Amino acid sequence: MIDAHCHVDTADFDPDRDEVIARAKASGISALINAGNNHPDNERVLAFSQKYGPGYYKAVICLSPHHAVELADDALEAELRFIESNKAKLVGIGETGLDRHHYKKEEEWAKQEKFYRAFLQLSESLDLPVVVHSRDAEEQCIRVAQEYKCRVMLHCFLNAKAIDLALSTNFAISVPTLKSKAIDKIIKRTPIERIFCETDSPWLWQGGRNEPANVRAAYERVAKIKSVELERVIGTVDGNVTSFFGFKPVTVP
Ligand SMILES: [Zn+2]
Repeated sequence: MIDAHCHVDTADFDPDRDEVIARAKASGISALINAGNNHPDNERVLAFSQKYGPGYYKAVICLSPHHAVELADDALEAELRFIESNKAKLVGIGETGLDRHHYKKEEEWAKQEKFYRAFLQLSESLDLPVVVHSRDAEEQCIRVAQEYKCRVMLHCFLNAKAIDLALSTNFAISVPTLKSKAIDKIIKRTPIERIFCETDSPWLWQGGRNEPANVRAAYERVAKIKSVELERVIGTVDGNVTSFFGFKPVTVP
């Protein structure tokens, strides 16, 4: 199993990050893909990837839509250059996108879109996959991303109403560890060859802090809804993730 999207770099894990990584390995997680959301986080993601081994701890970095609303254009320019200069240490760019759940003002959306387009452009020019946050803005996110030649992962995809549009593209659909009728519908509708599983740790867990070991719950949900053996789901989904991000599957030590 691979946790296709998490934030183990955040302060929530400062007290026990070594144990969290050890638990992930003991639970059969063969890699995790950690997304950095702002510049200080991105520095930490790169440092942790070195510490825990880039074969296991995969780095994607960006400025998230939450940070885009409060940052100036020079911060965007600096981050684009930072990503470019660290390309060899990354498996992708993210997370970027649009968030109309937490942000309601037109000027905030415009700011997010400006950053989003800049990172899509960079993803296209560096030929790195991009991880997209699309909260309550799934359609807009998909339509904007379609203007670029990028490999796109729609992380924590929650909007069953937008699933047909998403499936009309070749974008990957990432299923979180949350449980809801909408997520079950999305799993049912999406071919298993398009599914990734993620925790979005430390978030999106019913009852407390999420962590990569919990990604098993998303794999189990996919197996249940699709009536497919768990081992087959693991084989297919892990193949999807490794070929999308372009790394070789590792054997869990
Ligand atoms: Zn995230």
